[in-house]
Amino acid sequence: MVTFSAAVRPLVSHLQRQLVRHGRSHRITAVRRCNLTACSSKYVLSQMHPMWQGPLAVPGGDRQSPIDIVVRKSVFDSKLKPLETEYDPQTCQQIWNNGYSFLVEYDDTTDKSTLKGGPLQDRFRLCQFHFHWGESNSWGSEHTVDRRLFPAELHLVHWNSDKYRLFEEAVMEDNGLAVIGVFLKVGKRHEGLQKLVDALPAIRHKGSVVEFTRFDPGCLLPTNTDDYWTYHGSLTTPPLNESVTWIVMKQHIEVSHDQLAVFRSLLFTSAEEEVQKSMVNNFRVQQPLRGRTVRSSFTPFLQEAPPAEGH
Ligand SMILES: [Zn+2]
Repeated sequence: MVTFSAAVRPLVSHLQRQLVRHGRSHRITAVRRCNLTACSSKYVLSQMHPMWQGPLAVPGGDRQSPIDIVVRKSVFDSKLKPLETEYDPQTCQQIWNNGYSFLVEYDDTTDKSTLKGGPLQDRFRLCQFHFHWGESNSWGSEHTVDRRLFPAELHLVHWNSDKYRLFEEAVMEDNGLAVIGVFLKVGKRHEGLQKLVDALPAIRHKGSVVEFTRFDPGCLLPTNTDDYWTYHGSLTTPPLNESVTWIVMKQHIEVSHDQLAVFRSLLFTSAEEEVQKSMVNNFRVQQPLRGRTVRSSFTPFLQEAPPAEGH
């Protein structure tokens, strides 16, 4: 049952299918003024985007994302396995500007593009990926590592297809979603990303959708996917469901300044709006850990084996 109040509905109505789907959450039983930093401070985002203005429906609030990953406090867990991704580029369907980011959407009616392993017990299906980025290269990521900010962050969103039939069901459940986070750093041009960058001018305005096919999201993963941090968290856009197993890659990928500049040429606004706003700073502010443990699949304190003597 939809329990959003009339006051909240207009705030989320502009968010496209992905977020509207979340809006059907029956778990959101009360609308209260959010006490998180995003709502109470004069933080730039509250002035930048209508999504973060006014009251927010917050389910719970003890397992929110994003967070700062404090490396020395993360706990090595030897039981964490390597990730197993199997992505079929044929399941890629379209790309669209939802007024907050751009989403590359995949056909998730079958188990053709999946994620398992890592901290996960079940198989998860890829439904979309998107990015968060800043107005400059100095910030933009949602997660940070020891307070270090990255210019952008990729999120590959998967839902638990072993336990649930639809994304809409999975998003309500503790173990419903698995999101891979990858930090982007400015450096050399990313060849795999370029096909996507080339498609962006066609979806400059909010609400634009174009066909986008045969894109392998695996090309956006770092070469080492064995090393990651994982914790229980939430969506970082309303309604902020606490249904996400986060898997944040230790290794970043590199993209060029020019490629990020094309991200920033997108608009939060539709073609009809008088004042056009650049799509930048589309990240949520950081949330308290509240006693959660961040586990790592690797131990940062073990050095590489020293070279053999005589070398
Ligand atoms: Zn995201």
